Amino acid sequence: QIILGIETSCDETAVAVIKNGKEIVANVVASQIESHKRFGGVVPEIASRHHVEQMTIVLEEAMNQANIDFSDIDAIAVTEGPGLVGALLVGVNAAKAIAFAHNIPLIGVHHIAGHIYANRLIQELQFPLLSLVVSGGHTELVYMKEHGSFKVIGETRDDAAGEAYDKVARTLNLPYPGGPHIDRLAGEGNPTIDLPRAWLEEGSYDFSFSGLKSSVINTLHNAEQRGETIDSKDLAASFQASVIDVLVTKTVKAAKEYDVKQVLLAGGVAANKGLRQSLEKAFVELNGIELIIPPLSLCTDNAAMIAAAGSILYDKGIRSDYALNANPGLDLEIHG
Ligand code: ATP
Ligand code: MG
Ligand code: FE
Repeated sequence: QIILGIETSCDETAVAVIKNGKEIVANVVASQIESHKRFGGVVPEIASRHHVEQMTIVLEEAMNQANIDFSDIDAIAVTEGPGLVGALLVGVNAAKAIAFAHNIPLIGVHHIAGHIYANRLIQELQFPLLSLVVSGGHTELVYMKEHGSFKVIGETRDDAAGEAYDKVARTLNLPYPGGPHIDRLAGEGNPTIDLPRAWLEEGSYDFSFSGLKSSVINTLHNAEQRGETIDSKDLAASFQASVIDVLVTKTVKAAKEYDVKQVLLAGGVAANKGLRQSLEKAFVELNGIELIIPPLSLCTDNAAMIAAAGSILYDKGIRSDYALNANPGLDLEIHG
């Protein structure tokens, strides 16, 4: 079974080919970060234009790497949403055009299902499982009782983890995207500054990061007004400690309560060194629950993960028709 994956939900144009749902044959990602950097964030119009320019180039490269023809492809899996509508449209229309021209089945995929299924490219999944999704737009704990079944047991009430990282980085005058820079600084500093942790109500698996973000900004401004300087390394370390403390504690608690076999880490913030280390440490003590952490290249946006999620839908007989459209508000639980 050969699936071609296409991902254009944000600022990477990506095409991949995977075999039997697990084996990566080609995985090409053209990142636009350089074009968005000077604006301090992703500019939707620029993203769409880049996707249009890059799509055929990236597609050709992936097909060459995989050494396949269109006639070898069993299905085309494409990110249908969520994401930037103008960016999604480029991928969806490319997928429809190829599907129509070569009479290949088409499958719309939820971007977050893709992030979760990146883990299947590392290890076979065992259910029930729990996935901690931490990305630029999402922070969720997702329970899966079987393939293609997603139940969101907790989610952020305000900022996503990645968003908080990027905003704090901006306050510290670090380039976009700020996550990796904060991660690096945090590794050089010490968590000596007392910052809040949003545990929320007893028993809740929801998250909140906007209070923490404001607290970091206030700490900096108050110091400035007093003419003091704050070590940005220690501030980064303190911010990161607060984020990780809440993420790891709630993940461990949910993993026990839901009695899962595996815990998967997913999304761009899964590239965070501190988070990876803390989770590994926490799960060493939790005998019987396997922790899966994808390599960095499969944490940030890519098309191999979209193909991996598409492969499951393909096996279930799920197909999209040519009415498939970009859906920026696509729901994970309903889409399945
Ligand atoms: P979504 O998947 O929710 O639609 P997205 O696709 O824009 O959002 P991803 O590409 O999955 O998000 O992740 C990008 C985010 O990951 C950015 O906010 C970035 O700062 C963050 N990130 C990347 N590397 C790290 C790191 N090492 N530490 C913390 N954050 C990181
Ligand atoms: Mg991105
Ligand atoms: Fe993403």
